[in-house]
Amino acid sequence: MHQSIWLDIDIRRFSVLNESLQTDVTIVGGGITGVLSAYLLSQNGIRVVLLERGRLLHGTTGHTTAKVTAQHGIVYHELLEHFGLENTQKYYQSQVEAMQFIKDTTEHYHIPCQFDHQDAILYTNSEKNQQKLEEEANAYQKLNISGEIKNRIPFSIPLKSALVMYEQAQFHPTDFLKVMIDKILENGGKIYEDTTAVDIDYQNKVIVRTARNHNVLSDHVIIATQFPFYEGQAFYSTRMYPSRSYVLGLTSNQAYPGGMYLDIDQPKRSIRYVKHENETVWLLGGESHKTGQYKKENTNPYRDLQSFGSQYLDVKDWQYQWSTQDFTTLDKIPYVGSLNRKHPNVYVATGFRKWGMTNSVVAAHLLTDLIMDKDNPYKELYQPQRFHADPDVKKFISYNSNVTKEFVKGKLDVQNEHDNLEPDTAIKRKRNGQVVGIYKDEQNQVHAVDTTCTHLGCECNWNQAEKSWDCPCHGSRFSYDGTIIEGPATKHLNKIDLEN
Ligand SMILES: Cc1cc2nc3c(=O)[nH]c(=O)nc-3n(C[C@H](O)[C@H](O)[C@H](O)COP(=O)(O)OP(=O)(O)OC[C@H]3O[C@@H](n4cnc5c(N)ncnc54)[C@H](O)[C@@H]3O)c2cc1C
Repeated sequence: MHQSIWLDIDIRRFSVLNESLQTDVTIVGGGITGVLSAYLLSQNGIRVVLLERGRLLHGTTGHTTAKVTAQHGIVYHELLEHFGLENTQKYYQSQVEAMQFIKDTTEHYHIPCQFDHQDAILYTNSEKNQQKLEEEANAYQKLNISGEIKNRIPFSIPLKSALVMYEQAQFHPTDFLKVMIDKILENGGKIYEDTTAVDIDYQNKVIVRTARNHNVLSDHVIIATQFPFYEGQAFYSTRMYPSRSYVLGLTSNQAYPGGMYLDIDQPKRSIRYVKHENETVWLLGGESHKTGQYKKENTNPYRDLQSFGSQYLDVKDWQYQWSTQDFTTLDKIPYVGSLNRKHPNVYVATGFRKWGMTNSVVAAHLLTDLIMDKDNPYKELYQPQRFHADPDVKKFISYNSNVTKEFVKGKLDVQNEHDNLEPDTAIKRKRNGQVVGIYKDEQNQVHAVDTTCTHLGCECNWNQAEKSWDCPCHGSRFSYDGTIIEGPATKHLNKIDLEN
């Protein structure tokens, strides 16, 4: 099967940074957040340098499902309870403006990115969640959101009720962002790929140091790497958790009935469609779990999604499969603003909770305003240093005890034998006081790595679906041979020679 449908197009390549540079703003991370920030800043005449560790748009942005909506799961009832009416209205309004920005930009540049209005629909088959949908519908009323409860959706999926938010949208994110990249270049912006930022330092200017020992000096730095590659003692590792989901692209014998769907029961299911090479491809997502903590050891998330698809979507053909992850903050609102008081000119944009198509737009506008010293109505709402006692504290304690548990558990939970390992399976074992992860590939070749995450030392766990070692603490991922796939880690896992 093919990988992500969004990467099944030509995207420009850029060379590695092999000199030191000076600019106005350095942006680290070439996903939707970094690209839109670079676009908006360069539109305002500000010089930008964008650094990407791998290839542009090949992170979470290239593996999303790209619904463009303010319906972010069941959230408005909870936000009203914890943040009050004014702040919740601001959250909703910022998302509506973000949708409008994508629409206006698409029209302005005539971008063929399938921007298309669709209703967004949450649904449930559980009585408990039916109650939640009703509370959410009441929240819509308080916030003047156009939507209503329905008792059917156009699939044979068992259902108690559904909640529609009208006039939302979907698009093809990489077709859209390709044009944004062209505009950055037209505006004089510079872009480098295969360039990993490893540290930040100060000397009159802010210095971003790269893995190849080059420096980019600037007045401001935007960290758009999802989990910040540089934390500057702001403790993001204790305030966010990564969660991974899986997506299948399929064709069906039926015509797609319209709409973008999200199940609020477990396991969650997400459904939308996209046109690709004269075919209608249905995107079916789900099987979400905290990264590195996939509980159903002997099952495969893609297989579970396939069995759901076969049951309800009249599948003709399976064409694509991919997985990706995003971070959730303690109060569900992203962190966008200065890293902390010590680093006022270093900004972060993260914690989009799988709703980054609009949240990245909110972030790019907010960061552009902060850098240009302009007012922005959403500055306080998204600022990363906020502290809300409820529900932060409870989740803070419970998530950190979970991280501690994973840290300790990983160090102890090892097996002793690997000699009889079946092909295409992995185990961990303890060897000379060190935990070794061993994967035997389909050709019977054994790959052994030290599974200690090179970010902060948690113990990585095996993900059989992706053949990767995933860190349960902060979401770094490494391939079976230890090569880094996703940060915040910037170094590979150490390979182990089992002969010594
Ligand atoms: C399964 C799934 C489905 C989703 N569906 C939707 C949806 O339908 N609608 C929606 O609104 N949102 C959705 N999202 C969320 C959305 O896709 C993300 O929030 C968004 O793509 C994040 O974009 P980003 O630019 O912040 O991060 P990324 O796209 O991950 O970009 C970060 C970039 O930083 C680079 N990088 C990392 N470290 C360094 C370093 N040290 N130096 C240089 N570069 C570095 C990475 O290589 C990467 O390219 C979904 C998320 C998931 C997981």
